[in-house]
Amino acid sequence: MDPDAPMLEIHEIPVTPFQQNCTLWVCTETNKACICDCGDAEPVLQLVRKLGVEVESIIATHGHLDHIGGTVDLQRELKVPFWFPSQDDFWRVGISKQAQMYGLPPMEVPEPDHDLVDGQIFRVGNQQLLVLHCPGHTPGHMVFYHQASEQLVAGDVLFAGSIGRTDFPKGSFPDLERSIKTKIYTLPGETLVHCGHGPTTTIGHEAMSNPFVRA
Ligand SMILES: [Zn+2]
Repeated sequence: MDPDAPMLEIHEIPVTPFQQNCTLWVCTETNKACICDCGDAEPVLQLVRKLGVEVESIIATHGHLDHIGGTVDLQRELKVPFWFPSQDDFWRVGISKQAQMYGLPPMEVPEPDHDLVDGQIFRVGNQQLLVLHCPGHTPGHMVFYHQASEQLVAGDVLFAGSIGRTDFPKGSFPDLERSIKTKIYTLPGETLVHCGHGPTTTIGHEAMSNPFVRA
């Protein structure tokens, strides 16, 4: 690869007691950035300040509190639009109910500015990510694929050696299995998978050895 070619830099910041991996994408050509799946704003804002990047948007893979709990604080601080899959609105609106389940204090509901749909192109600076609908863990769950660098932000669909839980309301194992087989395992095997929790993996590795869903 040309070292001077414009790139999408990916930073992962584990946040919240759930050790949720928040992603900060940076377009190195424009210095524009996007924050994906923010469970807790402060550690991410610290990194944003340290890097001196300009955040232009916030996005979420799905509506669980560890992936959206920091959004209201980000919106207040950054005043940039928030992209969210509307099929997960029942999770988003019920964020305080989710917090209560885990013994956490009530939380403010983040209000999205834009919906996400399967096949749409999402831009970070001059870089493009493909939005793929992968229901199963939640009905609206989206993953984000950057073809140019073969990287995927997979939220809670696929983990290194595991898959997302399907025992929540409106969760579905058959849907999750179909999402992984038809939307994720069909991407190039070298693709690096950034998971919502735990270490990164590759599609080829999971397709061969994942104990729950194989190609
Ligand atoms: Zn989740």
